[in-house]
Amino acid sequence: MRAAFLHGRLDVRVEERPAPQIERPDEVILAVAYSGICGSELHAIEGYQLANRSPSTDNGPTPTPSSLGHEYAGVITAVGDEVESFQVGQRVTVAPRGPCHRCELCHNGGTALCRKTTQRGGSWADFIAAPQKLVHHLPDTLPLAIGAITEPLSASVRILDRAELRSGMNVCVIGAGPIGLFAAVLAQRNGAANVIISDPRPARRELARRMGIPVVVDPKADDLYTVVMDHTQGRGVEVSIEAVGLEPALSQAIQVVAIGGTVVWGGVAPVGVTVPISPNDMFMREYTLRTSWGGIEIFERTIRLLSVLDWSPVVEEVFPLAEVSQAVEFARTAAAGKVLLEVAGERFQPA
Ligand SMILES: [Zn+2]
Ligand SMILES: [Zn+2]
Repeated sequence: MRAAFLHGRLDVRVEERPAPQIERPDEVILAVAYSGICGSELHAIEGYQLANRSPSTDNGPTPTPSSLGHEYAGVITAVGDEVESFQVGQRVTVAPRGPCHRCELCHNGGTALCRKTTQRGGSWADFIAAPQKLVHHLPDTLPLAIGAITEPLSASVRILDRAELRSGMNVCVIGAGPIGLFAAVLAQRNGAANVIISDPRPARRELARRMGIPVVVDPKADDLYTVVMDHTQGRGVEVSIEAVGLEPALSQAIQVVAIGGTVVWGGVAPVGVTVPISPNDMFMREYTLRTSWGGIEIFERTIRLLSVLDWSPVVEEVFPLAEVSQAVEFARTAAAGKVLLEVAGERFQPA
């Protein structure tokens, strides 16, 4: 089968590899229909370090190529002997990790925070294996391209959970990539009063307007702080969401929050990024600063949202798997929505 691997900085290649077989009785194999390109993967492809480990080699070859892709939907082609809830031919999506149910965090009710989770990458490929506990049914009528945004949408659902948004609050989202855009759309639907989104890329601002976000800001042309204060009687927003993971977005999210408001950093900041925080300002404004790490525990709620809102404008940028390098370059520079790799698309028919 075909599979894409990262060999070093900006070096992604499609190669021939043996297709996965059922190795454990609780596994399923699926034919990948569509797989998204995640911002965290772009950071990794660009050579940023996302987890604390030995320093990454920026120029030299990476010792083992890493498999890419964790946002996907597809059709089941094989099931292990112990798999009961899934059958060949069903349309599904897969969470990239799940709780271990054995560690202290899991036993104390913190399954969403489990750090001993199964990391499953490798969906930029014709086929992928997954343990059944991570697999979720998709509605039969839902296009698989939309099913492939379950994972990033779940991250935005959790950002709003963490923000504790209530009706009538004002919301600012910094960064209109998929995570920020989804968060803004959900905030709007959840009864926010003003929703302001900011992004320097014209294509992203255009998509945010198409998705119905009322106030769309170009931070290069207009001062975001001023725009936010103009729309909030000088108070700032009760909910401030950052979906970039880099400065100046991280600091701006703090600047625009109202007294007593909540800041959620939802972007994955690479290792080494630091932010100046004034404890005096934090004390005086008594704002809350939180992070949000994925939404693997809330896939079922997220899948409901795939059908009730029109996400089709977000999944218009589709490249065949063979053009993965062009797709990555497009995602890095010109993309507005979620860039998808089309693998089998809707064409796959189980034998
Ligand atoms: Zn992702
Ligand atoms: Zn655990």
